[in-house]
Amino acid sequence: MEGCFTRLDLLEKSLHPLRMSHGICYLVGAGPGDPLLLTLKGRQCLERADVIVYDYLSNPVFLNFAKPGARLQFAGKKAGQHSLSQAEINALLIGETKSGKTVVRLKGGDPYLFGRGGEEASALAEAGCAFEVVPGVTSAIAAAAYAGIPVTHRDHNTVLTIFTGHEDPANSGASEKYAAIARTPGTKVMLMGLRQLEAITEKFQEAGMAPETPAALVRWASTGRQETVTGTLRDIASQGAAFQPPAVAVFGSVVALRPQLAWFEKLPLFGKRIAVTRSPEQAGDLISQLRALGADAFEMPTIRIEPAPDKREFYETVAYSHSYEWILFTSTNAVEAFFKVFYEIYQDARSLGAVRIAAVGPETAERIRSYRFQVDVQPEKYVATEILKALQKETSVENLKILLPRAEGAREILVQELTRLGAIVDDVSAYRTVPETVDVSGGIRRFREEGADLITFTSSSTAENFVALDLPRPPGLCHASIGPVTSKTMKNLGLSVDIEAREHHVAGLVAAIVKFYAKPADGSAENPKVRPANGALPDAEG
Ligand code: SAH
Repeated sequence: MEGCFTRLDLLEKSLHPLRMSHGICYLVGAGPGDPLLLTLKGRQCLERADVIVYDYLSNPVFLNFAKPGARLQFAGKKAGQHSLSQAEINALLIGETKSGKTVVRLKGGDPYLFGRGGEEASALAEAGCAFEVVPGVTSAIAAAAYAGIPVTHRDHNTVLTIFTGHEDPANSGASEKYAAIARTPGTKVMLMGLRQLEAITEKFQEAGMAPETPAALVRWASTGRQETVTGTLRDIASQGAAFQPPAVAVFGSVVALRPQLAWFEKLPLFGKRIAVTRSPEQAGDLISQLRALGADAFEMPTIRIEPAPDKREFYETVAYSHSYEWILFTSTNAVEAFFKVFYEIYQDARSLGAVRIAAVGPETAERIRSYRFQVDVQPEKYVATEILKALQKETSVENLKILLPRAEGAREILVQELTRLGAIVDDVSAYRTVPETVDVSGGIRRFREEGADLITFTSSSTAENFVALDLPRPPGLCHASIGPVTSKTMKNLGLSVDIEAREHHVAGLVAAIVKFYAKPADGSAENPKVRPANGALPDAEG
């Protein structure tokens, strides 16, 4: 997700500069679940917030936008976790806003649709607190869209009714309300109230709605765990008997458009649950690419990047980096570690002098460019002969002074090879990887409880640390590797290598995963290890 908003951020520098010192509460809609459906303004608010009060439904990934030191307060409501009462939430929002803080009240979907956002806004207004509303993409419309259902369509209807099903249809007031909804033409979308679905659909039929009206239930819409069942007003309650919240129900002839319009569930990785073992600094890119292809990808932090163990040696080397002819970066972590220290020491990018820069792989090169340095040579593979070949196109390698910032304990072989071929190589530990013990994102818990179809490894240390966690492995779990070095470690650890990327970077790994799950062109059975996606539609072709 990083990076895609940079230009807009430049254009939209400030949110209420005048109000920053006075305290303000933003009621922010988080959208239905896919983190990319948060609005740009919502993200800005999160980045500036001193306090974030969030609900269960809003995706926990959003909390990564919080600035360091921001107070993150969970407000509810999930079984087993203490949640705040509405009065406590109001008091918290008012108290923090009055003390001059920038407060974000983050709510699933749109804050004003069945989210009690209206009540919170009234409480803030009564207390004289400044507040603003940042509308969000509501699940009422997005869940239908992600299931292939347009809520209005000129050939079907021009009226949309959104209602809550949480009121018991046996109550006389509610009964009349449901009857009135049934008599209103057009599409009807129900939020909440899954438990009363049977009673509500009966009520609708009593009030004159055709039992054959198409109906759908969509659960966890817009996320990789999305599930959909379809039926009619008559049988949807029994079709969806096993459905758990959060889900919306859609009633109306537009539901019949789903076979043609269900774009999300036809994405190549839809329904695949993929655990991504990477350090928190790196996992984002792989996860967002997998999610964009429909996968239910989640992060399993197994390693963490820490600063160089010998700080002094690294600082001194960076301070003299201008005395080298080349710097060779072999990973994004090395780039980050180097420039962090470089800009602590120097104010001016020109302090790097005339050094030329080589970067192994497109991601490393991209990271260097993000610091506004051009990459002179970009060998694709982390192999000495490849790197030399690339360098030799530019210069003679004999006596070439090369600085190689790398991970502590990384293989010496590259240094040996380059030296053997005549280069003078100084390698320095720029960072180190250590096992991650904190399950910040909840990924380890998810892996334990729900398992996965696939787990990805992007370095030997992710494989080693995953095995060290000693988690129960779900049956049929497949393992994907970014390249031969990682694969070798995996095999030594007793992990099967079901997928190996042909090109050893994130995009290469994603391509290999897509290929693995693709249906063979001859129409023969799918890969035998693949489990069918829950609630998935049949493929367009078959
Ligand atoms: N303000 C929210 C709704 C809050 S009420 C919005 O605009 O979306 C909570 C209900 O929203 C859930 O019971 C469910 O009916 C629905 N909901 C929220 N997120 C959902 C999702 N990802 N998939 C399906 N239903 C969802």
